Amino acid sequence: MNERPKRSRAYAPDPRAPGRACDSPGCTEAGEYRAPKSRRNLNDYHWFCLEHVRAYNSAWDYYKGMSTAEMEAQLRADTSWQRPSWPLGHLGAAAWDEDVLRDPLHILRAGRVNRAKQAEAERPPPDLREPLATLGLSWPTTMDVVKTRYKELAKRHHPDANGGSRDAEERLKTINIAYARVRSKLGADARVAASG
Ligand SMILES: [Zn+2]
Repeated sequence: MNERPKRSRAYAPDPRAPGRACDSPGCTEAGEYRAPKSRRNLNDYHWFCLEHVRAYNSAWDYYKGMSTAEMEAQLRADTSWQRPSWPLGHLGAAAWDEDVLRDPLHILRAGRVNRAKQAEAERPPPDLREPLATLGLSWPTTMDVVKTRYKELAKRHHPDANGGSRDAEERLKTINIAYARVRSKLGADARVAASG
């Protein structure tokens, strides 16, 4: 029962396969089996490995008899669906048809979501942009990097190292505030990660 399903006769490698990898993100198997991208364009194909074409087709079968409303209800109820990034309510029936049926498993979409998440992760949180700029740090960063940079700057701008200069004192204050903000943010994130 837990063995891999036997190869079905319906699944034979397609001789017209373009000789590239499976379209499922991260899959390195050969994409030898084709599946139409949407109900309205049956001549435009994804190319999958056997495992992914089977999964794609079974999801396709599952959704194809549904109306748009039923499909939406199903997707809303599907806890594995990544709701926060799914623009419910902003799409008409045509967009549903395209986006859902092109990607009934969410596997192709997962790649797009991951890229968007990565871009988001590389942007500093709004409240840290200024402090990071003050410290001359890029995002993401770590507590070690922040501490090292802070020590350098504190030494360089310390009034004692600058003949008691008022300007240096002001710079050091700004640096101290920036350091405190970044440190408390990183500390809060670390606590969340540890408790989660
Ligand atoms: Zn695959």
